[in-house]
Amino acid sequence: MSLLTPAQAETLIEQHLACLPIESLPLTQVAGAVLRENIYAERDQPPFDRVAMDGIAMDAAAAVNNPRLRIAGSQAAGDPPQTLADPATCIEIMTGAMLPQGCDAVVPVEQIQRAGEYAEIGRKPVRPWQNVHRRGSDCRQGALLLAAGTRLSAPEVAIAAGAGMARLRVSAQPMIVVISTGNELVEPGELIEPHQVRRSNAYGITASLRQHGYTRIADDHVRDDEAELTQRLGFHLHTHDVLILSGGVSMGKLDLVPKVLEKLGVSLVFHHVAQRPGKPMWFGVSHAGPAVFALPGNPVSTLVCLSRYVLPALRAAMGQAPGEPPRISLTAPFEVKAPMAYYLPVKLNSDDWGRTSAEPCPTNGSGDFTSLAGTDGFVELPPGPNTFPKGFVARFYRW
Ligand code: AMP
Ligand code: MG
Repeated sequence: MSLLTPAQAETLIEQHLACLPIESLPLTQVAGAVLRENIYAERDQPPFDRVAMDGIAMDAAAAVNNPRLRIAGSQAAGDPPQTLADPATCIEIMTGAMLPQGCDAVVPVEQIQRAGEYAEIGRKPVRPWQNVHRRGSDCRQGALLLAAGTRLSAPEVAIAAGAGMARLRVSAQPMIVVISTGNELVEPGELIEPHQVRRSNAYGITASLRQHGYTRIADDHVRDDEAELTQRLGFHLHTHDVLILSGGVSMGKLDLVPKVLEKLGVSLVFHHVAQRPGKPMWFGVSHAGPAVFALPGNPVSTLVCLSRYVLPALRAAMGQAPGEPPRISLTAPFEVKAPMAYYLPVKLNSDDWGRTSAEPCPTNGSGDFTSLAGTDGFVELPPGPNTFPKGFVARFYRW
């Protein structure tokens, strides 16, 4: 059987994901969340003819023959609107106020001279509706402002607040557990023997998840022991929505993860993808619901598979509308030898014309994660053997 392509693996993941439940959160808690309801305009926007400058409000037609107007009143933002009783007068007005009745224009304070209770507006013509933000000119009451599936950043949260929503229905945060496997792994900060390795993947994965807005993240480290793996993975399958494992999915005698997962009732969706690094990646779903991403342990493979598959899957499970990864061109040629998709770490550069391009930063194999410092992500190159020229356009995935 030929290996799956990355695109096929991605489609299989999408087909097996369950959508996360909805929760209702107060507006102060929704930054970065994915909206699961449509938001409509509560009122016209602006909801009234809004004064856009501090100054005086008047009837533009009356002002044509009358460059000197008596100030008949004063109205601040938030005051109920006054009425211009006599068109030969004006009302002192502040930005954000409702345009007084009988007025259709505002002359800014910088363009008037005050003389006692009079305002001199000079000979400059006053145009009707100048400095007035007309009611409903931005949008109408009932207009769709935000569609379900929108990720909420600052403008969207402000828009929801403007529509009068105190709480929003958003996707619940998934309960994620990051599980490292390996007898050789030692916690940062603990004494390490020459034959041991730092447990770095879990920290990289967790950093990425946090950076992308996920907050409910547990962490575990399990030894390459069948009984221990069975017990701990069994527990995590009952308590989490998503399991992200690293290590233990290759061909070694102690790569026990696939066997244990299947024994625990997690159905294999795929094992192995035609890609480098990350070929041994394993994905399955448990009958109880959780999705299990078992990523190869080599540190570059782990981070690549996380960004290529797990982050997009989490976004889809949150109900976020799918988007194509951006395309970007290489600043230098790159040779791919193997007949598999190749993930090439890159730094993004921006030229004097504002164009972004990707500078190849190859690593010394899938174990060399020190070379990743300062990179922004990676591009996916098609299977080789081939030399992709400078300017070749590929999909870019951010860490
Ligand atoms: P494995 O996929 O378990 O065969 O591991 C492949 C390589 O990645 C081995 O050299 C492991 O020591 C290393 N490795 C596995 N898990 C981790 C981890 N959590 N942090 C750092 N290196 C790891
Ligand atoms: Mg291992």
